[in-house]
Amino acid sequence: MGILEVKGVNKRFGGLQALGDVNLSVKENSVHAIIGPNGAGKSTLLNCLVGKLIPDTGSVMFDGQSVLGRKPHEINQMGISRVFQTPEIFGDLTVMENMMIPCFASRDGAFRMHAVENMMAEKDIVERAEKMLEDMNMADKRHMHSASMSRGDKRRLEIGMCLAQEPKLLLLDEPTAGMARADTNNTIDLLKQISDERDITIAIIEHDMHVVFSLANRITVLAQGTPLVEDDPENIKGNPKVREAYLGE
Ligand code: ADP
Ligand code: MG
Repeated sequence: MGILEVKGVNKRFGGLQALGDVNLSVKENSVHAIIGPNGAGKSTLLNCLVGKLIPDTGSVMFDGQSVLGRKPHEINQMGISRVFQTPEIFGDLTVMENMMIPCFASRDGAFRMHAVENMMAEKDIVERAEKMLEDMNMADKRHMHSASMSRGDKRRLEIGMCLAQEPKLLLLDEPTAGMARADTNNTIDLLKQISDERDITIAIIEHDMHVVFSLANRITVLAQGTPLVEDDPENIKGNPKVREAYLGE
């Protein structure tokens, strides 16, 4: 049994079958990549895992409990945290202020819109945010205006904000999309470090094969809404069906 078990999930948008009988098993503490051409249904699948979409049929079990019928914030509290395709940080706040938000929210499970000055008065919140910035190698940027950071650093901050919620499963939808090569490589190193040092499972949707093969120890290939194959990276590389459907050979 994986920490995440998806069985027979179907999702239609009108006449379009975006997901058809999707099965997916993600092992605890693995880095599991979900790859496939544009429009394969990767983001739709991810949205079904976090409660943004409800599958028409099928089951999604996380850590032994069904996520279906739960609201996104409830699923978040179960231990699933998600990094969006475009970084979701507050550009007007500093790096430190951004990091304090999830630290504040995760303490009692609900974020109330307190003023940032109030958060600053809470010593344990400040300490947790500082520790997380250190873990993310961002302590020197703590007073920086978040909007003025590079795309790679925004992504790094956002990943740290997800980790501050202490999730069991971190979901990432194309985290390196639109990044320069150097930022991409930094993101790969960061995710490797997170996977090595933390008790966490990572499921990553990714287009860039360099990222996929640098990180994943298990890969599911989606094509036209259906899993084509789920296997170890070495076998995926050599699989003729995958080369044809995805690598275009
Ligand atoms: P991927 O992330 O693999 O590129 P998506 O999951 O975004 O693919 O999309 C799968 C298919 O479902 C595409 O054909 C897309 O146009 C369609 N689709 C996605 N979301 C919606 C929606 N909200 N309404 C209608 N069609 C959608
Ligand atoms: Mg997508």
